[in-house]
Amino acid sequence: MNYDVVVVGAGPVGSTAARYAALNGAKVLLLEEHPSIGSPVGCTGLLSTRAVAECDLKPSDEFVFNSVRGAFVHAPDGQRLPIDGKQTKAYVVSRKKFDRKLAVMALEEGVELSLRTRAVGLEKGELKTDSEGKKSSPVKLRVVRNGRLETICTSVVIGADGVKSRVASYAGLEKPARVLPGIQIEAPYASEDSDFVELFPGSSAPGFFAWTVPLNEKISRIGLALEPGLAFKNNPTECSPLSYLEKLLCSNPHIKTRYSGGMLDFVVGGIPIGPQERTVTDGVLLAGDAAGQAKPTSAGGIYTGAFAAKIAGKVAAEAALEGNTSAKRLSDYDRLWRKSIGKELEIGMKIHDYMGKLEDRQLNDLIGSLNTPSILNTITEYGDMDHPSILMRKLMFSGNSLRLMKAFGTFLKTLF
Ligand SMILES: Cc1cc2nc3c(=O)[nH]c(=O)nc-3n(C[C@H](O)[C@H](O)[C@H](O)COP(=O)(O)OP(=O)(O)OC[C@H]3O[C@@H](n4cnc5c(N)ncnc54)[C@H](O)[C@@H]3O)c2cc1C
Repeated sequence: MNYDVVVVGAGPVGSTAARYAALNGAKVLLLEEHPSIGSPVGCTGLLSTRAVAECDLKPSDEFVFNSVRGAFVHAPDGQRLPIDGKQTKAYVVSRKKFDRKLAVMALEEGVELSLRTRAVGLEKGELKTDSEGKKSSPVKLRVVRNGRLETICTSVVIGADGVKSRVASYAGLEKPARVLPGIQIEAPYASEDSDFVELFPGSSAPGFFAWTVPLNEKISRIGLALEPGLAFKNNPTECSPLSYLEKLLCSNPHIKTRYSGGMLDFVVGGIPIGPQERTVTDGVLLAGDAAGQAKPTSAGGIYTGAFAAKIAGKVAAEAALEGNTSAKRLSDYDRLWRKSIGKELEIGMKIHDYMGKLEDRQLNDLIGSLNTPSILNTITEYGDMDHPSILMRKLMFSGNSLRLMKAFGTFLKTLF
């Protein structure tokens, strides 16, 4: 079996990369180890309007449960910062249906899909061209398909196999180094306003935050992600994500009165924080969570992943068809995705590390200091869940800069 491009992992990034490789003329195979697309789910399914558009989709009842226009940020002392985007900013989706939609779009472009097929190893060889100009495939991908070991030959492998990427290891690339454990239930929850998500930074989820994301007025996804080291420091005896979630549900004064017990769904997963230094090597590219491309400020990986996937698919197809799949040729992908979203991820890391280290007392002060009409107006106008740096820059130069400098110290200045 010979292909120009084989994509490992049929998540949103894999399906998008496969589709773009096919659109650019490549013969493409998409592999998924599970027997069905989109399951198990490891996601809250909160996608910015831009993320849905980046996947070349229009919001549709086929996969959208709800739309939201803002967030209520709850400080540890109970203060509430209402951030109203005034228009739809994000959709709450069924990831299963969303992922399937993207896989169908890939199939429509001629991508072959093989389920129950796990990549278990790869061997890189030299690219050879015969007298007729036909090239032999330089990568031998070992897979277990329906329980049987097989070898697939291809010019390029795209590792879109998520945060635990085995393709990265097989190809001698690093895996995401920092991974936040996340946990979530879908449960009966009387939403204060189902147009808004709720965020709970502070010691209820050390190093990150807890959230409620409404599917409707009666059901929400309630979860959190945390920095394991900070969670341990905060409470060495009960530092698992599950114990933090149990505490959130039972003890948070806002949540416990709205959550009526039980669950409809349970999700655990890892969120990569910070991309690796290298995302290409000879014959292999990494994209999405496998490349650590999730946003460190929100844990969202679909927008950035889809953005990178399109470039990966195009570069992989062009390189395969040209017959040059060296790391040097494929590094176009690395250069192009970093040029567009690299800086934002870098700034996101700084914001993540700064916010994660704040104590509850400092967060109370910070959230309190943002709660003025003019700052809230700036947030409404410039807040962007995919590009937090835009708001940070505006806040730095707003008429409230003195107040903000007091709250953020010199941190804002170190961002840019
Ligand atoms: C708790 C939690 C909440 C989140 N909430 C959001 C959110 O609200 N919004 C958002 O944008 N992002 C969110 N994310 C992040 C988001 O889920 C990921 O960024 C996104 O799924 C990454 O897509 P991907 O295609 O790179 O990887 P994945 O979706 O992980 O897909 C990888 C695929 O590869 C397959 N695979 C793995 N290994 C192999 C192998 N060896 N062979 C064949 N197949 C293989 C897997 O089965 C899987 O289907 C959340 C993550 C977590 C953990």
